[in-house]
Amino acid sequence: MTDDTRWRNEEMRLADAAIGRPEELAPADALVLDANAMAGLLEEIFGWDLTAELARCTYCGTVAAGGTLLAFAGGPGTVLRCSVCHEAVIRIVRTPEAIYVDARGAAFLRLPGS
Ligand SMILES: [Zn+2]
Repeated sequence: MTDDTRWRNEEMRLADAAIGRPEELAPADALVLDANAMAGLLEEIFGWDLTAELARCTYCGTVAAGGTLLAFAGGPGTVLRCSVCHEAVIRIVRTPEAIYVDARGAAFLRLPGS
């Protein structure tokens, strides 16, 4: 195994640890913000300020502006949760090499067209 492969495996392990276990960012022990506080990070990732754009929660079907999501920060990553059902809509983990985004809790994210 090369050093590069070892590093990639370690990076994936860190990302899986954060993305695969969102319960580690439970409301009781995480810093809770609204997604407006995460606007810069969201713009860095998506190239657009998502706080005013619509998203649909996969779990309860709520359609609301991204800025209404609850941001749980302070762990290995950030989890944006639905303000109605509190399920994880978007999970973000930054490693030294990459940013991992798990958006399977969003049935859709609406971005403006050109
Ligand atoms: Zn929901």
